[in-house]
This record gives sequence, C-alpha cells and structure tokens, in this order.
Amino acid sequence: MGGRCYSKLVACLKKTRLLAAAAGGAATIYSSSPVAATSSDENPQTLKTRLCIIGSGPAAHTAAIYAARAYLHPILFEGSAAPGGQLTTTTSVHNFPGFPDGIPGPDLVDRFRTQSLSFGTQIITDTVASVDLSASPFKISSRSLSVHADSLIIATGATARRLHFPGSELFWNRGISACAVCDGASPIFRNRPLAVVGGGDSAMEEAIFLTRYGSRVYVVHRRDALRASKMMQSRAMADPKIEMVWNSEVVEAYGDEVLGGLKLRNVVSGEVSELEVSGLFFGVGHDPATEFLGGQLELDSDGYVVTRPGSTETSVRGVFAAGDVQDKKYRQAITAAGSGCMAALDAEHYLQELGVQEKKSD
Ligand code: NDP
Repeated sequence: MGGRCYSKLVACLKKTRLLAAAAGGAATIYSSSPVAATSSDENPQTLKTRLCIIGSGPAAHTAAIYAARAYLHPILFEGSAAPGGQLTTTTSVHNFPGFPDGIPGPDLVDRFRTQSLSFGTQIITDTVASVDLSASPFKISSRSLSVHADSLIIATGATARRLHFPGSELFWNRGISACAVCDGASPIFRNRPLAVVGGGDSAMEEAIFLTRYGSRVYVVHRRDALRASKMMQSRAMADPKIEMVWNSEVVEAYGDEVLGGLKLRNVVSGEVSELEVSGLFFGVGHDPATEFLGGQLELDSDGYVVTRPGSTETSVRGVFAAGDVQDKKYRQAITAAGSGCMAALDAEHYLQELGVQEKKSD
C-alpha cells in the first residue's frame, strides 16, 4: 500500500474510532465499516461471530488479519488497561522484518491494529472477564458485552515479571529491561558491564545472549544454586564473560541520565556492595495471562496453555492458542505473529470441518 493510501486509511479509521467512542458505553467497538454496536452497563448485549480472538499483540492481530481476509468476520477483544501488550513498552523494535531502521513498539502495534481493522475485524476495547467453553458456541464475556463464537483464539500473552526497588522505575528503558533479545543490542550496552537477575533458564539465556554486547555479564541470583536446566547452567558457567553473584538481591539502581550501577545486598551476610553496570535485565520469569480461563483449558505447571505440538489446538476442540500465552521458549514478536497466522488457519479448517455456513453467526 502506498504511503498516501495508508495515511488516508489511518485518518478514516481514527474517525470511526472517535465516532464509536462518542457513542459512549463501557465497551467501545472499532470497525472500518459503520460501527455495528456499542454497549453499556445498562445495556449489555450479545454479538455472534464465527471467530473471536482475545489479545492485542502480534499474535492476536496476525490471527485477525488472516481470519478477516478469509471472511470469518472476527471479533477481537483488545483489553482496556493497556491494549497492545509487551510491545507497547518496547522503545524500538529492530528485529521485526520489514523495518531495517527499527520501529517504536507502540507504532508497530498501531500498524497491526490498523491492518486488522482495514480487513474488517471488529475490535472491542474491553477486558474479557470470563469464558464458557463447555459447549459451542463458546461464550466470551466482558463487563458489558457477551460474544458467542463458533471458535476462539486465545492470544493474551504473558507479562515479564519486574522487580521493584528504588530506581527501578526511573531507569526502566534507560538501562533496565526485561528482554535482552529485544533491547540488548542497544548502543548503551556495547562493551559495558551488564547484569541479569534470576537463576532460571530465562536468566541463563539472557546472560549468554548479552555476552555478544557487554564487556562482562554478572548473573545476580538470590540463592547459591541455579534453577536453570543442567545444559543451560553448563553453557553459562563455561562462558568466560559470565560471572555469578550468589546469594544477592538488587536493592537500588543509581545513575544520572541512564543506569550507572546497582546496590546489591548479600542475603546471608546482609552486606551491601556496589556493582557498576550500564544494563540490568530481569530474568525472573513471566506470568501468562490465563487466569480468566477458569481452569477450562489444559495448562502446564507454569500456567501456559498447552497446545498440540505443531499446531495451535488446545485441549478444547475449536479453541486455539497463539503467542506468548502458549510459548515460554521463543517469546518473540515475530514468533508470536507466526503462531497467530497458524491459529487463524487452524480455526478456518476447524470451521470448515464443522460445516459452519457463511451466514450462521451473522
Ligand atoms: P523460572 O521461574 O524458571 O525462574 C525464575 C528465576 O527468577 C528463578 O531463579 C527465581 O529464583 C528468580 N526469581 C523469581 N522471583 C524473584 C525475585 N523476586 N527476586 C529475585 N529473583 C527472583 O522462570 P524462567 O522464565 O526462567 O523459565 C520459565 C519456564 O520456561 C521454565 O520451565 C523454563 O525451563 C522454561 N524456559 C525454557 C527455555 C529454553 O528451553 N531455552 C528458555 C526460557 C525458559 P529462585 O530460583 O530462587 O526461585
């Protein structure tokens, strides 16, 4: 699409967004076609669709784009607190193909959203409170809206856990990050000492990855033994650039414009010491957003949705999962987008098998 056409489309969609919001109500519905409906607490309503998608990151929007182009007329719940997911807190994305100069995370999400809308996805700005997967059509309910859907894609993502101590908010995105793969190549980390907090596989991966850029990588762990798999432990321990800082927790981050160092407390002796670093990466785990499922889908021991290997099928037929909510290994925007595409294709095949006719849910 040419630049001019793109700007025109964005302007048109923004207009639709304003009209929908002006109509009032607890949930706002965005659509490139005339807004189908709005709702309020006083006037809850039910919408029907062949496919409902829950999420607002690359997995959800890629699924929406594919499904909308297949005329499945998807309805997407994007949440209400912070639509867009983890990318909205990423300053610049340099590893998503197609953007050789990088792109701010929020701009990338805006583009996903614009593309979803342009192909006919209806986007509801509201948070799903509960789902009923006991029978088809599945019921997806927010505070003021209920959607009955023949199929469902869960793409609610996972949140990287952050630690909180004096300076942790001040230096967030100015030296402190929760994703080495996303932010590690930034010039502020080149040939500088860096630190990773955590003792699991994520922390080991982050530390090993950061050895490409940092002059030294300290792994600060609160115990004297790692939780990471033996293989990851050996790889980290064998790396001459990695140094373990045992029995320690970060109690403060300091610096001027950007992070300059950390105060560490030894949890055994209580002694506080300083560690000069330009980067601090949290590797203390992720929390998948699966609570609203109320135990109706099979989850693994860490709370991630279990999908059949090589597909996005979950334990309930007709329900699919994509992105970080089912992936604790790769966790990248591009892998999330890829699995979103898979989920849309899986849903399309499921609906074909089901013999759902074009008009059934209209
Ligand atoms: P984990 O829960 O395994 O590890 C989290 C680490 O953070 C633990 O070492 C924990 O310490 C530490 N931690 C937690 N909270 C705090 C805190 N408040 N202060 C300081 N430290 C804290 O999470 P991961 O993300 O590492 O892994 C999750 C799952 O994903 C695992 O099953 C893992 O194997 C898998 N995974 C696999 C990968 C791969 O195959 N390549 C890559 C990444 C993850 P403590 O040990 O003391 O509890």
